[in-house]
Amino acid sequence: MTQTTKNLRQIFNETVKHQKKHDALIIPVTTINLLAYRNDLDIHFPEIHTNKKDMIDLSLAPYKISKIEGVNLPFDMTLESESFGCEIDMRDESNMPEVQKTPFKKAIDVEIPDDFTNTKRMNILYDAICDIRSNYPDLPIVIGIVGPFTLLGQLLGIEQLLKYIKLDYFEVEEALSVVVEALIEFIQKLETLDIDAVVVCEPSASCDLLDPNIFNQLLKGELEYIADETTKTNTILHVCGNTTQIIEDMLTSHYDVISIENVVSLNYVNEMRDKTKSDTLVAGNISTKTLLLGSTSDVRDEVFYALDNGIDILASSCSVPPYTPEVNVAEMVKARDEYYQTQK
Ligand SMILES: [Zn+2]
Repeated sequence: MTQTTKNLRQIFNETVKHQKKHDALIIPVTTINLLAYRNDLDIHFPEIHTNKKDMIDLSLAPYKISKIEGVNLPFDMTLESESFGCEIDMRDESNMPEVQKTPFKKAIDVEIPDDFTNTKRMNILYDAICDIRSNYPDLPIVIGIVGPFTLLGQLLGIEQLLKYIKLDYFEVEEALSVVVEALIEFIQKLETLDIDAVVVCEPSASCDLLDPNIFNQLLKGELEYIADETTKTNTILHVCGNTTQIIEDMLTSHYDVISIENVVSLNYVNEMRDKTKSDTLVAGNISTKTLLLGSTSDVRDEVFYALDNGIDILASSCSVPPYTPEVNVAEMVKARDEYYQTQK
């Protein structure tokens, strides 16, 4: 079945709320900012991070050009740290913005500025969301926010933070709860804009960086609190890399959807879902490497495999690399349609 534009938002919400069984949608759970789109539209980094029209155009490109069934913005991960007072280097066409200087020396110094949700760039994001919502009332809008552990890592330096956990665990715990309060404030502002989901992105909480036991002790409760406080929109938790050791925690952190990479076995996720009696949906897990380097038939195989193994929402494993060929992104949609056609 080819899903019509008209009902994509409804299908997304009915799926996430378990109200109705639909064919799996292809949602940009993480961003798809192909260089091919940027060149086509003659819009470029870093202007896109500060220009509302460019931000809107790039966020709509996967939908308009490749038929991906939703929009995801913003395109960088420094809005929150900038609001905390960090200096941001906006970088260039090939590199994402990053924190250059932070006002915080110690975890105990971290506090929420009064205008946290009201900076210039946050207002550009809000305006962009409002424009998209009014022009595309039936398109799912998912907004990526930086997860609390990753954000605290930006505020203190990630290496510093990992050392800190060993030296002064309770101070880190305290700082993390400050960051969480700020993020909830941000989410509550986003919820007033009639969005369809927030994606809490935690690249720094990947098992390659953070001990899974620390994830459980330090972070899980805070992630749960964010999900519990997000009452007006759907919640998605995305942790990068091999998250096998924390899948059980991810499935029981009260998110509507978890987003996983292809290194995690879907069979294992399904087993854990049964074991924990979790009704959390699973999004993923088309390899970004296959999208970047594979052929359309490789992409098709992965889509079929994911659907055969019960994926609820099809998405790339993580942000789609900029040099990925557009045909491979479009292939996810074509393969999904073909999969369901052959089933009927
Ligand atoms: Zn990721």
